[in-house]
Amino acid sequence: MNDADYLILGAGPAGCRAAQTIRRRDRQARVILLTEEPVPFTNRILLSKEFLTSDDLPPERAVVLPPDSFHALAIELRTRERIERLDPEARSVELASGERMGYGKCLVATGSRPLTLPVPGFELPGVHTLRTIEDAAALRESARRADRAVVIGGGLIGAEIACALSMRGLRVTLIAREAWLWGHVAPETVGRAVGEALSARGIDLRLGRIVVAIHAEGGELAVECGDGLLVRAPLVAAGVGVRYNVEFLAGTGLLEPGRGVRVNPWLETEAPALWAAGDVAAFEDPVFCSRHHVEHWLHAQHQGRHAGENMTGERKVYRRVSRYDTRLFDLAVSVVGAPELAERWTEEEPIVAGTGTALGWSRERLVAAYRLGAGGAIEAIARRIGDEAEAVVSELTPTRSPGSP
Ligand SMILES: Cc1cc2nc3c(=O)[nH]c(=O)nc-3n(C[C@H](O)[C@H](O)[C@H](O)COP(=O)(O)OP(=O)(O)OC[C@H]3O[C@@H](n4cnc5c(N)ncnc54)[C@H](O)[C@@H]3O)c2cc1C
Repeated sequence: MNDADYLILGAGPAGCRAAQTIRRRDRQARVILLTEEPVPFTNRILLSKEFLTSDDLPPERAVVLPPDSFHALAIELRTRERIERLDPEARSVELASGERMGYGKCLVATGSRPLTLPVPGFELPGVHTLRTIEDAAALRESARRADRAVVIGGGLIGAEIACALSMRGLRVTLIAREAWLWGHVAPETVGRAVGEALSARGIDLRLGRIVVAIHAEGGELAVECGDGLLVRAPLVAAGVGVRYNVEFLAGTGLLEPGRGVRVNPWLETEAPALWAAGDVAAFEDPVFCSRHHVEHWLHAQHQGRHAGENMTGERKVYRRVSRYDTRLFDLAVSVVGAPELAERWTEEEPIVAGTGTALGWSRERLVAAYRLGAGGAIEAIARRIGDEAEAVVSELTPTRSPGSP
């Protein structure tokens, strides 16, 4: 068996930052980093923004760290390797090639992939989802030849794709089941303001609608909604949520049903010597006294580094307020905290004419904020959210040491 002292499953921002951190803290250990993608550390942020709007941006620009940089650190990067099974008792993984690999310590950082809609026609050519560089190149190629597009999904990714395609000159219809954009996580005022920014630039919003089928008709696609609405376009792109890449852990008891890998505030799973970080981790977050996921780029890097430190002898609670920044046409938007936990919203600064700040509360506790427009004290709000966690964090006591059986 090909044994690693540290085996990192997934070479996204979480896995790569963990591998670098481990190497910095342990110069001798054998570190192996596995990914099924052809390249490590894709900048997925670019893929729904600049990469889609500009044909001049080559795919290589979306690779944050080239494979050479891992070789220079004596990290054994293995691309195009699919993990099929992890046996926590034997401390080993099995790859699609049949190879088995043992580990001393292991990090699960396998991220997530786009959900598909269980409707007839979703598999038709011309229907796209977006996660990898290959997905983005295929979508861009379709967009090059299209004059119209239908985007399905009213979340962040759906809105970003709609803007990018519109900026390319396509006529875009955005269909979402929520009554306002980001309706599953944002207050109505914010969702409507974002919607107005998109409508003002010509995006046709069809909200409160459920897609029931996609048909191939006369060389185009026709997206059918439950209320009979039919929208035709040569290109359909969907951003309808994610599924966690955890199939190789089926039957281990380490999964939170439908929600990835269960970890404690130290990012430890319930198996010895096994941690998880990034999109895939359903972590007990002391900031919010709640188990949840954060699917953000910076968060994945912070959590990867943190896991790397804990795997090499530290034992620190992971405690950070996450943040997502985007720009939809001219509208800057920042989200901090955990908006999905908010039970009610107030306005710190009224949401009007593309500016304002909304605060999300769970009982009496500030848990999230949306800032529209440049400026605003979003950093200070993030600190406020974090400060409230201090008392909770100090009550946490270690439950076991890293790597202990
Ligand atoms: C289009 C798009 C735009 C985004 N824009 C933003 C943004 O503007 N701001 C922001 O904060 N966040 C953004 N995100 C989210 C952000 O990119 C993710 O939260 C982040 O990439 C998560 O990092 P990760 O390391 O946990 O997982 P990933 O980046 O998904 O990496 C997972 C790794 O695991 C590998 N893997 C998975 N399964 C297997 C397997 N079975 N075998 C082998 N390898 C496997 C993958 O190949 C990959 O190397 C965006 C995401 C997308 C898709």
